[in-house]
Amino acid sequence: MPIKNRYAEMLDEITGWRRDFHAHPELLFEVHRTAGKVAEMLRGFGCDEVVEGIGRTGVVGVIRGRATDSGRVIGLRADMDALPINEATGLDYASETPGQMHACGHDGHTAMLLGAAKYLAETRNFNGTAIVVFQPAEEGGAGGLEMCRDGLMERFGIEEIYGMHNAPGLPVGHFGIRPGALLASSDEFEIVVTGKGGHAAEPHKSVDTTLVAAQILISLQTIVSRNIDPLHRVVVTVGAFQTDSEASNIIAHQVRMAGTVRTLDSENRALAEKRVREVAEGTAAAMGASVEVSWESGYPVTVNAAQNTAYAEEVARSITADVIDNVDPIMPAEDFSYMLEERPGAYIFVGNGDSAACHHPAYNFNDEAIPFGSSWYSGMIEARMPVEE
Ligand SMILES: [Zn+2]
Ligand SMILES: [Zn+2]
Repeated sequence: MPIKNRYAEMLDEITGWRRDFHAHPELLFEVHRTAGKVAEMLRGFGCDEVVEGIGRTGVVGVIRGRATDSGRVIGLRADMDALPINEATGLDYASETPGQMHACGHDGHTAMLLGAAKYLAETRNFNGTAIVVFQPAEEGGAGGLEMCRDGLMERFGIEEIYGMHNAPGLPVGHFGIRPGALLASSDEFEIVVTGKGGHAAEPHKSVDTTLVAAQILISLQTIVSRNIDPLHRVVVTVGAFQTDSEASNIIAHQVRMAGTVRTLDSENRALAEKRVREVAEGTAAAMGASVEVSWESGYPVTVNAAQNTAYAEEVARSITADVIDNVDPIMPAEDFSYMLEERPGAYIFVGNGDSAACHHPAYNFNDEAIPFGSSWYSGMIEARMPVEE
């Protein structure tokens, strides 16, 4: 089956919405203009209900099918927020706000789901209720969690939920999906080591905090190489390392380092946390320093439910033959994970072609992906809640 003809007709219109969002990026929960536009458009499409302010600035549209006696309710989710990056694309619709940019393609996700909402509200060719969910603050603000805490699932009776992210490097018109873990958990740690500062020429009268901290940093790399099963995937990265000395002739008194841990399952996530603490505390103790370790749990692993992944794959295959059903998981995180913790569902990658990577200042969403993404969103509704002949 080719891509729905209606989306071919709507492509210019949806592209226009996408480029408007692109020119007006907003961060975290401050997506007021975007959310306002989304709500206004959903009303214009004739959605049965449009609710704003869920999860602070999230927007939800309710579209009832031609029949609703199946009692089924399926959710579709897109994210609306941008990133604190200076855009370097040179596009004529580039960001009008310095320091803010749609560098993760959420402008495209929002536009594709709006396209699907318009189509679904026009055709209503399903038996049940479609819930379109537009969330703020995917980029670090856990807007997905905020919407769940605001009762998203219960309030609208959502039984299953589906989401999508564009994938640079995957050809346009291709989909990638896998059952189980698709994106990683993301946790942060901070380690503050306190030794005994002093004169660089008299190390025996000091506890060299920089050396202790350096030893900890190196030893942290043994977590992945020596503690984690080599067939599993875990990342431990120290991204920040600061001593409180700026001089070559001073032994630092205190050193701070901070890093991130990514895993694809809760067992390794717990193991990594335990080992970060043990390595930091044991190494500091062995060298006569004291240490404080703080751990901040971030987004959980994004886990696709097996059965829902099969449904999502089937719909993708009805759009194109180019569906990779065992795509490699990736180590960035995604807060759709919170929604998948509450309801079964699946997350799918849609090809963005040969573009710069997400979060790069030269990244741009590929508008050619729109018919594929919109078709998949609305296809999930029609396939999961078919109208009986
Ligand atoms: Zn991102
Ligand atoms: Zn993203």
